Amino acid sequence: MKRSWVEIDMRQICENARIYRSLLPEGAQIMAVVKADAYGHGDVEVSRALNAQGILLFAVSNLDEAMRLRENGVKGEILILGYTPVTELDRVLRYDVTQTILDEGYAAAALTVLGAKAGMMKAQAAIDTGMNRIGEDADDPEGCERFVRACAKKFHLTGIFTHLCVADTRDPESVAFTREQIRKFEQTADRVKDLELPYIHCMNSAGGLWHVSRCSRIARLGIILYGLKPDASNTLPAGIRPAMEWKSVVAMVKVIHSGETVGYGRTYKAHESREVATIPTGYADGYDRRLSNRGHVIIAGREAPVIGRVCMDQITADVTGMGVHPGDEVLLMGKDTLTADELARDLGTIGYEIVCGIGKRVTRYYV
Ligand SMILES: *Cc1c(COP(=O)(O)O)cnc(C)c1O
Repeated sequence: MKRSWVEIDMRQICENARIYRSLLPEGAQIMAVVKADAYGHGDVEVSRALNAQGILLFAVSNLDEAMRLRENGVKGEILILGYTPVTELDRVLRYDVTQTILDEGYAAAALTVLGAKAGMMKAQAAIDTGMNRIGEDADDPEGCERFVRACAKKFHLTGIFTHLCVADTRDPESVAFTREQIRKFEQTADRVKDLELPYIHCMNSAGGLWHVSRCSRIARLGIILYGLKPDASNTLPAGIRPAMEWKSVVAMVKVIHSGETVGYGRTYKAHESREVATIPTGYADGYDRRLSNRGHVIIAGREAPVIGRVCMDQITADVTGMGVHPGDEVLLMGKDTLTADELARDLGTIGYEIVCGIGKRVTRYYV
């Protein structure tokens, strides 16, 4: 049923991965970050397509996401980047996925519930180099080393990683901070070199392009896989492009007269006769309510301003003189114009939030 839907160009996602990979150092690998339903693009579909391209490393945010991928036949390593309640860790084992060990406290709690089975659970140790979110503090190199060695003893440890927090901005202070994060991470990696852990990684999308670590052979590729920018100031490599378009249809068109208002709160008032199109997509679909009287949509290549408030299930647009009819296709978010990054700029947010916010009731089509 075509009411509100997105069209996802899977070839573009694969092409983005290919181009990004070609810019990494020789021998480096991509870990595809497919959390949050692959940033709204469909985690199972994206992961399967990447499997077919030979990508065998994936990262998700939680156990439910990891299990979904396994249940749908996704191959390779699946790393849960965040918290899993320790009482669920038997399922991490059963589904052959990898759990991040957040810190020493988490390791101890995991051991208590897993007992002797802990040695079979794949795990990676988080190192905190400045994000101050998860991980053992890299400012204490001895403590960090002890943590990693303890993890290697107790779990089936396959790697260590850290997360960069300003790799996407190029001002000197951010660049210096990122270099320092990488230095701290490399120091820890060097101290545990003898463990020969296969997965040592510190780069996100931005890091992989603009900050390369000598000991990180893996880039955790998220937002750029989907053709969007980590930060509005970035220029993406040639050929990397958005893969998603969000569309809806004109449900009806009516004429309103001078003095009439549109929608809740009567926030739009006509000063002359206007043609108003009703479009069956609303904030419950993820169309941001802050676009009320502010955003625009595109119909047959022409911009139509959103007038009145965005409703839960519908929006209204001014289509005066555009010759618009019920059934006409409406572009809410595009690949070339009206992109997620452009919408994000208008809303004071990031493209990530726009694509992740597109709701479950918006049908995904793969083109
Ligand atoms: C989300 C996430 C990524 C991916 O970040 P992008 O900016 O989308 O590339 C990488 N690593 C961790 C730990 C994350 O949480």
